[in-house]
Amino acid sequence: MKFCIIASGSEGNCTLIEDSSGQSILVDVGLSMRRIAGVLAGLGRDLSKISALLISHEHADHLRGAAVLSRRLDIPIYTSPGTASLIKRSFSGTTRICTLNGNPTQFGALQIDAFRVSHDASETLGFIIQEGDTRLAIATDLGTVDLPTLARFRECDAIILEANHDLDLLLSGSYPWDLKRRIQSNYGHLSNTQAADALIKIASPRLRLVVLAHLSQENNRPHLALRAVRSALDQDGHAHINVVVADQYQPTTLFEIM
Ligand SMILES: [Zn+2]
Ligand SMILES: [Zn+2]
Repeated sequence: MKFCIIASGSEGNCTLIEDSSGQSILVDVGLSMRRIAGVLAGLGRDLSKISALLISHEHADHLRGAAVLSRRLDIPIYTSPGTASLIKRSFSGTTRICTLNGNPTQFGALQIDAFRVSHDASETLGFIIQEGDTRLAIATDLGTVDLPTLARFRECDAIILEANHDLDLLLSGSYPWDLKRRIQSNYGHLSNTQAADALIKIASPRLRLVVLAHLSQENNRPHLALRAVRSALDQDGHAHINVVVADQYQPTTLFEIM
């Protein structure tokens, strides 16, 4: 399985995941079709191999480009029942919207398990994506990592996890107080420390790659997120895990896990 985070952050999120035969899906489409096509071209790929658009929730940074991409290329959108009922009202009838009903769904060789996470949207999803024995977890908008979520993260080879803010930067920053409170709440976003705490609970010899995602441009810095997670993992004896930070404007490399 290969994956590339095309963009990550409050201005737009999109991740390409490709199976070993070259078939792919996108998780979240918070970017224009043109921008996605441009990044895919840089990877020697195009939009024709994408068979599904998985949408985690209805916030614009995850959804903005989905309707156009779905309509123009006739690619179905898959999301939670809660998100589907909300976006069906605003998307035209020509867009195919399917619900993920709790059972595993297969796209090419990729098996998708969607699960609910705690966030201030109608029904936000995280995803476990599996090909053969290889497992990737994605969860980028969540206010807390509860026990069921931790259980799903175990036994993964790679994880894309939100590290949204440094708590000191958030508290001392310019956001209004109620927004600060919302971000910190169980329905908001994970801090660097929360991400680090979750990762040391799920780290295993099997976990080899962590991509920190959805960093706030105002309330975080890549080196702060990296330091919080790297030092927690190192102190807990997990120096083997590669930790990288996804960016809003630059795609990551095309990672391969097996
Ligand atoms: Zn978001
Ligand atoms: Zn959100």
